[in-house]
Amino acid sequence: MTSTNSTRLTVLATGGTIAGIAGSAIAKDYRAGEIGIDDYLEKVGGLGLGAELSGRQIANIDSADMGPGVWNPLHAAIAEAMADDGCRGIIVTHGTDTLEETAFLLDLTLPADKPVVVVGAMRPADAVGYDGLRNFANAVRVASDPDAAGRGVLVVMGDRVFAARDVRKVRTRGTEAFRGFP
Ligand code: ASP
Repeated sequence: MTSTNSTRLTVLATGGTIAGIAGSAIAKDYRAGEIGIDDYLEKVGGLGLGAELSGRQIANIDSADMGPGVWNPLHAAIAEAMADDGCRGIIVTHGTDTLEETAFLLDLTLPADKPVVVVGAMRPADAVGYDGLRNFANAVRVASDPDAAGRGVLVVMGDRVFAARDVRKVRTRGTEAFRGFP
């Protein structure tokens, strides 16, 4: 747990490349969903993100395998965090292959009382130029911002913030992989 001030965010981890490991900084192949949320939060603990992060592992999978078996407990955990007065916002870490589907499902089925931010990465955590830390830091900033509430579920990728109802993955390489609809 990272504790720097009173903004408490709940981080619900489901796996994906943001929690992936290649075993080499330059390897092309890697395994998604390898790092557990406790280790991940320890890793981001030194970044000075300005929020207290409380983590929960919902799953640790490649999001190609995402489905109701994870969506149901994820939805329940978000509803629980929404009802927790001490929790300011919710971050969901997710693989990018089905990130837009999960974000849209949550957008359709959850109230918008608190910020809900879905975030992933295109490079595994031990790669040169890992984008997951930057995306995660951006997700913390967005989820901490009261102005992010009431806008539906948001997706933070590649230095941009998207509405879940208006985002799609357009590339399988590079870090600018998500775009809004024209
Ligand atoms: N196959 C990975 C996943 O969706 C890809 C990624 O996270 O970018 O879990």
